[in-house]
Amino acid sequence: MKILVAVKRVIDYNVQIRVKEDGTGVHTDNVKMSTNPPDDNAVEESVKLKESGKVKEVVAVTIGEEKAQETVRKALAVGADRGIHVKAESYIEPLGIAKILKKVVEKEKPDMVFLGKQAIDDDCNQTGQMLAAMLNWPQATFSSKVVLKDKSMEIVREIDEGLETIEVNLPSVVTCDLRLNEPRYASLPNIMKAKKKPIEQMVAKDLGVDISNRVQQLKVEEPPKRKAGIKVANVAELVSKLKNEAKVI
Ligand code: AMP
Repeated sequence: MKILVAVKRVIDYNVQIRVKEDGTGVHTDNVKMSTNPPDDNAVEESVKLKESGKVKEVVAVTIGEEKAQETVRKALAVGADRGIHVKAESYIEPLGIAKILKKVVEKEKPDMVFLGKQAIDDDCNQTGQMLAAMLNWPQATFSSKVVLKDKSMEIVREIDEGLETIEVNLPSVVTCDLRLNEPRYASLPNIMKAKKKPIEQMVAKDLGVDISNRVQQLKVEEPPKRKAGIKVANVAELVSKLKNEAKVI
């Protein structure tokens, strides 16, 4: 069996985001970039399935500018076998990304596509679902446990009411929750070895799909600053303030 795993390069989750003064976006120059966190879980699960002997090959794919390749290298350093970098100059919306991934799926013919549940930069939570719809494959989103069987997968999903267990037939699309596993760190020897693993290059606009964006971003702004808190002397004063000033009780 073969897994295709999608990894996106985003601003590192520890970075304090700075909005551009003209409201056209956020600063990315000299900002630390990393793999989108749930994509690390997607890679970890793919590698674990390979280590279990049920999966023969893990292929990591990214779509983005030249430096997005680092994201694929990182996946290769923790156990993916080879990579694909689909070059794109600028941001592509989830629909365009899903169309590109569909092309890669048609070429690679994987049994499963693993993605993160959501990218922390655009917070869309759409790509996996759109890809599954376009492929007409079953989808298991927000997965926090994956058990691979012969022709299907049993998946535990994180939903509002708690946990839901479903079974999906292969081939299928799986989007991964942060609770799925604990992503490993790449060791130095494995980082060195990953440099020799192949990364195939493609160009997004040569794939014959319409990747033009349909959503126009009007403005990006900082969230309102939080007002300073106050200290109360005792519980009676707290209750009085909640009742008479905040009027929440
Ligand atoms: P989104 O729908 O934008 O929240 O993204 C959901 C998931 O789709 C991410 O966690 C990634 O696994 C995948 N994805 C989105 N954009 C890209 C990209 N440019 N390259 C590779 N994978 C992507």
